[in-house]
Amino acid sequence: MKAVVLENQRSITYKDVPTPEPGPGHLRLKIKAVSICGSDIKRYVDGHRMYPLILGHENSGIIDRVGDGVSADYLGKHAAIIPLVPCFECEECKRGYYSACHSYSFIGSRQSGGYAEFVDLPERNVFILPDDLAFEHAALIEPSTVARHMLALGDFKSGQTAIVLGAGSIGLMLVQWLRILGAQQIIVTDILEDNLRIASKVGAQVALNPSQVDVAKEVQKLVGDGADLVLEATGVPQVLEQSLSLTRPRGKIVLAGNQPLDKSLPLTFIENMMRREISLIGCFMSYSAPFPGHEWTETLAALLNGSLDMDTLISHRFPLAKAPEVFEKIGAHEMAHQKIILNPEEVA
Ligand SMILES: [Zn+2]
Ligand SMILES: [Zn+2]
Repeated sequence: MKAVVLENQRSITYKDVPTPEPGPGHLRLKIKAVSICGSDIKRYVDGHRMYPLILGHENSGIIDRVGDGVSADYLGKHAAIIPLVPCFECEECKRGYYSACHSYSFIGSRQSGGYAEFVDLPERNVFILPDDLAFEHAALIEPSTVARHMLALGDFKSGQTAIVLGAGSIGLMLVQWLRILGAQQIIVTDILEDNLRIASKVGAQVALNPSQVDVAKEVQKLVGDGADLVLEATGVPQVLEQSLSLTRPRGKIVLAGNQPLDKSLPLTFIENMMRREISLIGCFMSYSAPFPGHEWTETLAALLNGSLDMDTLISHRFPLAKAPEVFEKIGAHEMAHQKIILNPEEVA
């Protein structure tokens, strides 16, 4: 089969690899759509833990083969990939904290992922979908679950005010979940006008560009001492530092942006956090018990009732063969984009 393989830092190729055969307890998904995640770009630009590796964890397709012990009823069913493969045995798995599993794998970062014609998956890693759901919408289920998980961790309640820092893919999903769950005010910030325009289209009431306005001042005009919930989805240290001044006393900040590990925060940050009694909450992936969690079932329900808008989030569509070119362009900052969908069946 054809697949896109990360060979080394900034080296990615489209080539022939062995087609996977599902073993006992496994099944195979014929991929219909895969979306590029920012974390895939990061693995390409900064390097990754292992090579060679087929990246890709935002996928949908049709189950076309089952291994021993797996019901043939799965054949022909549409599904999305649930990329986390927890052990289901360790202390954290038993608590339902699957992303803290002592020995997890992850499809598309620790084992072969979905930039390919086929993916081999354990039975528990398929999220079965109705046949009439568009494959490209289904490929965007995973990033939506991350946003939904952030709001669960921040204990978001209808009627609260929220600020989304960064209108990339997670930020745009956050804006939508805040709208769906009944936020009283949704403020979003980003330095790219295009991202802000889309954020407004999918539900943000106020869109602020920090390169043009004083965000702290604007937020003060809108919500006084700060928002109830601030969602950090940029991974930029200065943005994280500023997040405290945007949060009301006793408010919460949920962190999902991956920060550069060679930077540090001044301890005045902790001092300010203590004085305002602000909670700082980490977020990693999108899982809760029972696996994969309400984040997944709620996303599917929102897709089916039309409240989650995936179309507006998709900026580009390419055949899978174009992936190396696309990664090169994005790695060189030559391609502004929102979600990019790759199709393994289209001919380049
Ligand atoms: Zn992702
Ligand atoms: Zn575990």
